[in-house]
Amino acid sequence: MREEADVVVIGGGVTGCGIAYNLAKKGLTDVIVLERQVPCVGASGRCGGGIRQQFTTDANITLAMESVRLFEQLSVELDTDIEYEQGGYLIIAYEDEVDQFKRNVRLQNSLGLESRFITPEEAREIVPLLNIDPIAGATFCQTDGHANPFRVVHGYARKAQKMGVEISKFTAVTGIVVEDGQIRAVKTDKGTIKTNTVVNAAGAYSRDIASMVGVSLPNKPYRHEILVTEPVEHVLDPMVISFKTGVYFSQQKHGPIIGGIGDPEEPSSYNISASLRFMKRMARTVVELVPAFGHLNVLRQWAGLYDVTPDAQPVLGWTEGVDQFCQANGYSGHGFMIAPKVTELIAELIVDGKPSMPIDDLNLKRFEGEITGEAYVVG
Ligand SMILES: Cc1cc2nc3c(=O)[nH]c(=O)nc-3n(C[C@H](O)[C@H](O)[C@H](O)COP(=O)(O)OP(=O)(O)OC[C@H]3O[C@@H](n4cnc5c(N)ncnc54)[C@H](O)[C@@H]3O)c2cc1C
Repeated sequence: MREEADVVVIGGGVTGCGIAYNLAKKGLTDVIVLERQVPCVGASGRCGGGIRQQFTTDANITLAMESVRLFEQLSVELDTDIEYEQGGYLIIAYEDEVDQFKRNVRLQNSLGLESRFITPEEAREIVPLLNIDPIAGATFCQTDGHANPFRVVHGYARKAQKMGVEISKFTAVTGIVVEDGQIRAVKTDKGTIKTNTVVNAAGAYSRDIASMVGVSLPNKPYRHEILVTEPVEHVLDPMVISFKTGVYFSQQKHGPIIGGIGDPEEPSSYNISASLRFMKRMARTVVELVPAFGHLNVLRQWAGLYDVTPDAQPVLGWTEGVDQFCQANGYSGHGFMIAPKVTELIAELIVDGKPSMPIDDLNLKRFEGEITGEAYVVG
């Protein structure tokens, strides 16, 4: 492991590896990524791979739209098939959600996103197996979709390494040395690395990293569970999601249905065990929407952590009080889909001193004021 680096990135998920790749692409290759296990072991390797642009804040819509533009060329750029498909996202609308969803579509359209509100019958044309009895409509955006997170993370990591970045596996960060507000070094269980610039991309553990230098992040970790079924013939093009019930599911390229459901009773914790409660709630909710899925066998279930902020938007950029300490965390359950743009912007911030799109509204400082947040969250 090198003893000195221009930039130390903490965390080997899609954020850390994506930032390392984008730094190297801009010519800054004296970079080390510190990962306490292996790349993709955290939320990135446990996620549903969904990529949607239908959000309710300008920042999230724009970051997601820009990311889709980058996802569209990522297989070529990373020399690996990221299994990217644009089958759309169908967001189920129940009666009391209809007016708000129509307003959300208007906001999305005003930013250039081609989402639309559709009737239950139109929703059934897109998903023929859908039970439309309980629903009042849906919103749909064809350019939403999904990709394989393992291929994206390892694609970023491999390309970054080829350009000179070091990815240090099984290396846990244990402290950050700061003198007079300046970063001097990062301490790990394998030794100390001298540096002036640190990126905090440790996912749900980012608040622990920040607290090493006395910075308080409002982020909280929450367990989210997910499952995958046996593969079946192709029956589902889009990701189907409901923010009322918290359920989402899509079909992977080789046939399995993958999906999860949020749990409003889940306390904040670092627990990533699998539960029977999840399996029962998931099965009941999915089968109400797609009765035919009652015949599917579940192959595997697992859990990962959301890193949730008070407004469900990420924390990005420099940190007041600690020079050259960059935050790239707090994705609140949608960090994979916005990673291509976010990681490019963070690299621009570090190398050029200014990102090509303003990210000031996503700075940690925003939590000092009034908070209005993203509504489309799997809670
Ligand atoms: C069940 C589930 C489903 C999801 N579905 C989607 C989805 O469909 N679409 C979407 O966009 N997002 C989804 N997400 C959210 C998405 O997975 C995350 O927002 C995203 O992966 C965050 O990436 P990251 O690199 O910031 O964090 P992570 O992938 O968690 O990476 C952080 C890394 O930091 C490492 N680390 C922590 N502490 C230390 C330390 N002290 N020293 C060294 N390394 C350390 C960890 O080991 C970890 O590998 C889902 C999440 C879950 C849990």
